Amino acid sequence: MHIISIMAHQDDEMRCLGTMLKCRDRGDSLAFVTVTDGSLGFVQNPSIAREEAAAIRHAEMSALCAAVDADYINLGEQDEFLYDTPAVRLALIEAIRSTRADVIFTHYHEDYNADHVTVNQLVRHCAMQACLPVIATASPPLAAHPAIFLVEPLGPFTFPATHFVDITAYHDQKIALLKHHASQDEALFQALGAGFERLCARLEAYRGEQVGCEYAEAFTPMQARGAVKGYSVLP
Ligand SMILES: [Zn+2]
Repeated sequence: MHIISIMAHQDDEMRCLGTMLKCRDRGDSLAFVTVTDGSLGFVQNPSIAREEAAAIRHAEMSALCAAVDADYINLGEQDEFLYDTPAVRLALIEAIRSTRADVIFTHYHEDYNADHVTVNQLVRHCAMQACLPVIATASPPLAAHPAIFLVEPLGPFTFPATHFVDITAYHDQKIALLKHHASQDEALFQALGAGFERLCARLEAYRGEQVGCEYAEAFTPMQARGAVKGYSVLP
């Protein structure tokens, strides 16, 4: 299967990366789509030029993708000012088609960041539209609607976790990969007092405790036509 992360920013894959690594080991292919350019993610350096910031974010995400032999598609919309427009929809429909998505991970619909919520809505529309021949893009329509799983938001939101994946054996590799986002590890420390290692371990240990393993990632399916499957797709 083709497993795709569709997130607003470069590093938002931190809530599904362990599961994606586990998918890869069972023979799935991986792809990562970021909708914005991530150019405002520099709380540690507010005066950095937008172009330079976007280039750093792109290079960090590209390095992570190269390390796991995954495709990377960066739609490059303006960070923190993402809107649902016809052009963005067409670009995302094409990204979903060109990656031949079978399973999509994306943001939950309640979140502290408006870009995350917008991406959730975009995926809801575009995954369905990716199957429609009446909407033409460079790649052919998908034959079947992809399964869609929502990742846990950061912050005080009630997340109705229904699907748990034991990623204990993948935790260290996941953290090492996330360290490719060096600029964001620094930004997270500055903003939250904790980098990827602590932010991931804390939540994964909590979810692991619920299902009897050391580290787990938790998801809930998007309640959308075609996105909920009657068979198991997660490892
Ligand atoms: Zn984000």
